[in-house]
Amino acid sequence: MGATGLGYQIAERFGLAVTETRPALVPLTFGEDMLDGFREIAGVAVDARVSCGKAAFKEALLFTHRGLSGPSILQISSYWREKQPISIALLPDVDFARVLLDAKRENARRSIANALGEILPKRLASYLAQTHGWSGTLGEASDRKLLSIAQALHGWELYPVGSEGYRTAEVTLGGVDTACLNSRTMEAKGADGLYFIGEVVDVTGWLGGYNFQWAWSSGWATGTAIAERGTAH
Ligand SMILES: Cc1cc2nc3c(=O)[nH]c(=O)nc-3n(C[C@H](O)[C@H](O)[C@H](O)COP(=O)(O)OP(=O)(O)OC[C@H]3O[C@@H](n4cnc5c(N)ncnc54)[C@H](O)[C@@H]3O)c2cc1C
Repeated sequence: MGATGLGYQIAERFGLAVTETRPALVPLTFGEDMLDGFREIAGVAVDARVSCGKAAFKEALLFTHRGLSGPSILQISSYWREKQPISIALLPDVDFARVLLDAKRENARRSIANALGEILPKRLASYLAQTHGWSGTLGEASDRKLLSIAQALHGWELYPVGSEGYRTAEVTLGGVDTACLNSRTMEAKGADGLYFIGEVVDVTGWLGGYNFQWAWSSGWATGTAIAERGTAH
């Protein structure tokens, strides 16, 4: 979008600390082993709770040709680090154990994939049944097996290999260390008249307009401080 690393260079030239930067609010990518299957379900969206460590977001999840996207994934990308797994609970508010046990009682001749396809997008249900080996009918599956399927749907662990990078990232994690700035005016400590606002600062918001809000609010704070200074002089 035209952004450059100039702000970081200026900060460093004035001896200010710059914390490590990386793309965030960005889709996550997967290795070929996963992508073979993901290509079949590219374009499918489903509600999910996606977590990584202590962070968790309950929002839409989107399967793509290159991996996972959608708000829940963009959000978790700000917390995910290389080699960590993310955990996905599909339709987190659905009690899959109850749904499958009830479906078995109602019609035991129905296939597991079909029963799942009643609540999950059909393409996703058949992909999951295929990759997890959930073949056969509900009647053929023990209650214990159905409970394990329910558990798997709320604890799907996946290892992203990377992200789409700055090409599609909405924000940069890291930047000019906030400890080096006056929190009221954004003026650099020890460099009179030098201010850092917005994206270049180590402040990163969730999805939802918080990054714009930060850019505008920090700009307003600086502008006001400069105007007050001008009046005082
Ligand atoms: C695709 C996308 C979608 C986004 N969606 C949202 C959203 O929905 N909600 C939200 O809150 N945030 C969103 N963001 C993030 C938001 O756009 C940024 O946080 C915000 O624009 C940062 O404002 P800024 O003024 O600090 O930096 P920027 O908007 O990056 O402005 C920096 C400006 O400096 C210019 N510049 C760079 N180098 C030089 C130079 N040497 N000389 C002169 N000018 C220079 C650049 O061209 C640019 O115009 C999105 C970002 C992207 C990329």
